[in-house]
This record gives sequence, C-alpha cells and structure tokens, in this order.
Amino acid sequence: MQLVDIGANLTHAAFGADLPQVLQRAQAHGVGNIVVTGTTVAESRRAAELADAHGLYATAGVHPHHARDCNAETIPALRGIAAHPRVVALGECGLDYNRNYSPHPDQERWFVAQLELAAELGKPLFLHSRDAHPRCAEILRNLRAGKAVAHCFTGDAVELRAYLDLGLYIGITGWICDERRGRHLVALAKEIPGDRLLLETDSPYLTPRDLHPQPKARRNEPAHLPHILRAVARARGEAPEALAAATTRNAQAFFGIA
Ligand SMILES: [Zn+2]
Repeated sequence: MQLVDIGANLTHAAFGADLPQVLQRAQAHGVGNIVVTGTTVAESRRAAELADAHGLYATAGVHPHHARDCNAETIPALRGIAAHPRVVALGECGLDYNRNYSPHPDQERWFVAQLELAAELGKPLFLHSRDAHPRCAEILRNLRAGKAVAHCFTGDAVELRAYLDLGLYIGITGWICDERRGRHLVALAKEIPGDRLLLETDSPYLTPRDLHPQPKARRNEPAHLPHILRAVARARGEAPEALAAATTRNAQAFFGIA
C-alpha cells in the first residue's frame, strides 16, 4: 500500500527536532510521498527546501490568516518559489471566515491574486476554505479557476455539491475521526466520487481523536494517514487497499507527480 499525504505542515516547529524519524515512520506506514504545505512566503521557501532535501513535494502560497501581511513583493516571491520543480501547487490560499485573523477584503484580494498566479503558471491550487462558503465558490466560479483541491474539507452537503460542481477535488483529514464535529463527514464521504478524493493529515494539526494511544503532545504526523484511510474506507464501505490505490492515483494525477 502506497499513500500520498497531500497536506502536511512539516516546516512547523513541532517537527524541528525529529523530522528524519517522522519521515522514516511515514515510509514504514506506507506513506510513500508527502506534499509539504506552504503557508507564508518564508514557510513556502522552507517547504521547497525540505522537499528538495528529502525527495518530497511542496506548495507555495499564503494562508488567509496571513493575508494582512501580503504586499507588492508577495506574488513575485511566490512566482520564484513556484519555479522549483518540487513545488507542485499554489496555496494554501483561500478564505477563513472562522478565525478572521485577516480582514475579509485582504483575504479576498490575496486569494484572487494567488488564483491568478496559479492560472498563469498552470499549477493546481491547494485551497483553504473555512466557514467561507458560498463566497469561496463564487470567486472560483467567477474566475473559472483550474484544477483545485478543497483541502481539509469540513463543510456540509451543500458546500460539497458546490465544490464538486466546480470540478474540485476534496481533501479529507482526520476531522472525519472526530466524534464531536466530524460525524457529518462520515455520512458525506460516500458522496465524493472515487476519482476526486484525496487524503491528508494536516500534520501537526488534527490528530485523529480516536487514535489510541494519543501521540505525545498530541502531535499529528504523516504516519497516521493509514488510520484516516481506514476511517474513510469504512464510511464509504470500501476496502482500504482499493481506496489507497484510488487516492494515490488521484494525488499523482492532481499534482502531476510520479
Ligand atoms: Zn488549511
């Protein structure tokens, strides 16, 4: 079984001390490749360096939380980072109306700027949308965005339908393992077409709540992806091996990786 973790924040300080061991454990658990998420210009640069050093892949983008820090240098800097052969997507970018760390006009402006950059470079988009539907779908529709994945999808049936209608891929995390707030995803998982589904840990965040024992400091890591795979397979009534093969195929097709 070979899986691709399409979203792991491996530049996070939580991995500062033992990244080589984390990557070894991922390999040992069948996670054959990882796409390291870039969330700011500086972190995207580090993500590309990590990808280069360890044979991984990376995204280059600015998370909506940090939209207020963007300036005239942001897009040229992302364009430069995205030229790296291991940078396979733009993002994560999008809208977050849950935390609202950046004003909505800033979020929209820099989301659109990154959408346009992705179109210019012909790269797929790693999309973050939290409590921002339907605005997020509206922007994607108006700009006729290319290939995109709704990373860490946590929305409802209406939001799922809107994203599927826009041709988006859907990224599922360990949120589905959360008996308090992820139960609706268990019901929705089978509504996602088999050729649009991607799996991710969002490490070090979103440690599956039903993982026993819970890891030290509750840090999530890519080695937990098979646990998420099994939860999604259960929800869809599929064999984990078949779902592993399908989601890996999808990740390869989406990011254009071998
Ligand atoms: Zn996100």
